[in-house]
Amino acid sequence: MDKSLDNFFSFLTKKIGRNAVSLVGLNHAIDPRDRLVNKSKFCIKPENTKEVSVILAEANQRGIPLIPVGGSTGLVGGQIAEKNDQVSLSLEKMNAISFSEEDNLLTVQAGAILVNIKRIAFDAGRFFPLSIASEGSCQIGGNLATNAGGVNVLRYGSARDLCLGIEAVLPNGNIVSSMKALKKNNMGFDIKSLLIGSEGTLAVITAAILRTFPLPIDPLTTIISVNEPHEALSIFNHMSKIFGDRLMAFELMKSTGIDFLRKTGFKVRYPFSEKAPWIVLVDIDMNIGSTNFRDQIQEILSKFLDKNLANEIVIPSGLKQKKEIWSIRESIPLANRRIGSLFSNDISLPLRSIPEFIEEADKRLLSISNEIIVNCFGHIGDGNLHYNVFPIASEAIKRLEKNRPVMIKMVNDLVSEFSGSISAEHGIGRSKSKELERYEDPGKLSVMTSIKSAIDPKGILNPGVIFSKETL
Ligand SMILES: Cc1cc2nc3c(=O)[nH]c(=O)nc-3n(C[C@H](O)[C@H](O)[C@H](O)COP(=O)(O)OP(=O)(O)OC[C@H]3O[C@@H](n4cnc5c(N)ncnc54)[C@H](O)[C@@H]3O)c2cc1C
Repeated sequence: MDKSLDNFFSFLTKKIGRNAVSLVGLNHAIDPRDRLVNKSKFCIKPENTKEVSVILAEANQRGIPLIPVGGSTGLVGGQIAEKNDQVSLSLEKMNAISFSEEDNLLTVQAGAILVNIKRIAFDAGRFFPLSIASEGSCQIGGNLATNAGGVNVLRYGSARDLCLGIEAVLPNGNIVSSMKALKKNNMGFDIKSLLIGSEGTLAVITAAILRTFPLPIDPLTTIISVNEPHEALSIFNHMSKIFGDRLMAFELMKSTGIDFLRKTGFKVRYPFSEKAPWIVLVDIDMNIGSTNFRDQIQEILSKFLDKNLANEIVIPSGLKQKKEIWSIRESIPLANRRIGSLFSNDISLPLRSIPEFIEEADKRLLSISNEIIVNCFGHIGDGNLHYNVFPIASEAIKRLEKNRPVMIKMVNDLVSEFSGSISAEHGIGRSKSKELERYEDPGKLSVMTSIKSAIDPKGILNPGVIFSKETL
C-alpha cells in the first residue's frame, strides 16, 4: 500500500477504530453504465458526523483525495475513483431516519436509502415524493448531492425543493449545520442550496431535514397512445390547464422502449390493441380541493380522441394494472442497461422545442450512421428527455465507437441551439466536465471555480467531478 495512505489509515484506526477502513467491495462503487471502472481500493465508513469531520480534516492536511459514494447509482461517474490513491468515503452506516408528527418532517442521515425514507413517511400516512427507479439502493446523501429529479418533479420539485435543512462537513473538517425546519430563512447566503447539487465537490452531506406531503389517495393513472411528440405536448398543455398542480407525473416513451423491454426479457402486458409509436403516461391526483374530476375524466380524455391527438387511451381497471403500467416506465432504464447504449443524454429543453429537437436530432444522427437506434423517453412535463442512442445490433458498437464523440457533440450542440441544458437531473460528474466547460456561461463557470477553490483549496474532495483538471 502507498505509504501516505498507510499512515492515513493508521491515524484513522487509532482515532476512530478498527472498522473505519475496509476494502472496496465489488459492488461498492460501480458505474451503472459500465463505462468507468472504480480504481479506489479502500473505503472509509464513518459512524457519525464527528468522525466525518476527523476524516476530512486529516485527509485535507495530508492531501489525500476522497470520493464520496452513496448507493453508486449515479449515471455520470461522480462516485467512481479514477486513481488508486483516491479513497472512497461511504456514509452507509449513518442511515437513521425519524419522522416528526408535529411538523410532518423527516430527519435523515445521509446514508439512509431512499426507499426506506419513503416507507417511513408512508407508514406515518405521509408522502415523500422523490421517486426514481434506483430508489431501492440510492441514498439520500447521493440524491441531495445530485439534486435528483424523477417522475414527480412536475408537482413537488426536485431534491432541492424537498429539503428544508442540511448538515455537511467541509474539506477542512468544519461542520456546517443548517438543520432548521424553516420554510423562510434569509440569514445570509443559502449554503443549503449551494451544497445540494454540488456532487460531493464542496462538502460531504451528513444529514438533512425533508418535507413530506399528504398521501395522494388513489391518483388516477392513464396511458395514452400518440403518433408524435407534438401530440403528447398538446395533451400536456390541455391537461395542465385543467388539472394545474394536480398533475403529478407526465411521462413520454418511444415505442423503442417497449421493444427493448421485450428483447431483454422483461414481461410487458401491453395496454393497447395496436402498436403505439409514442406513449404518454400520466398520474393525476383527483382527491384534493373542492372539484373532484373523477366523474368528468372520461369526458376530458375522450376529447383527445375526438381531436385526433390520441390513438387510444387506457385507464387501468385496478391497482394491479396500474402497477403493471408504471413498471413499463420504471423498467426502461434497466432494459437500456442490458442493451448497452452508445451514449446517453439527460437533457432539458423549453417545452415547445421538444418535438422539433427530437426530429432534428434523429435526422442529424442518422446522417452520420444508420446503424443507430434512439430510445427517447423522459419526464416531458419537466422538459427533461433521456435521449439515449444505441447500436442497432451489438456487433455495430465497434464501428460506431469512432463516431461517438462527434455524435455526442452533435446532440449537445443542438441542445445548446435550443437554449437547453446538457444535464437536467443526473449532474455533471466525471463524464460531462468537458461539456460543462464548452456549454456553460463563462461568468457562471468562473464563480463556480472561485467557490470550489475557496472551499476546497487543495482539491481533495471528488477531484475531476464537475471541474475538469484543466479548470482547477
Ligand atoms: C435505473 C436508474 C434510474 C435512475 N433514474 C433517475 C431519475 O429518474 N432521476 C434522477 O435524478 N436520477 C436517476 N438515476 C440516477 C441516480 O440514481 C441519482 O443520481 C441518485 O441521486 C444517486 O444517488 P446515489 O446514492 O446512488 O449516489 P452515488 O451514485 O453514490 O453518487 C452520486 C454523486 O453524489 C456524490 N455523493 C454521494 N453521497 C454523497 C454525500 N453524502 N455527500 C456528498 N456527496 C455525495 C458522489 O460523490 C457522486 O458525485 C437513476 C439511476 C439508475 C441506475
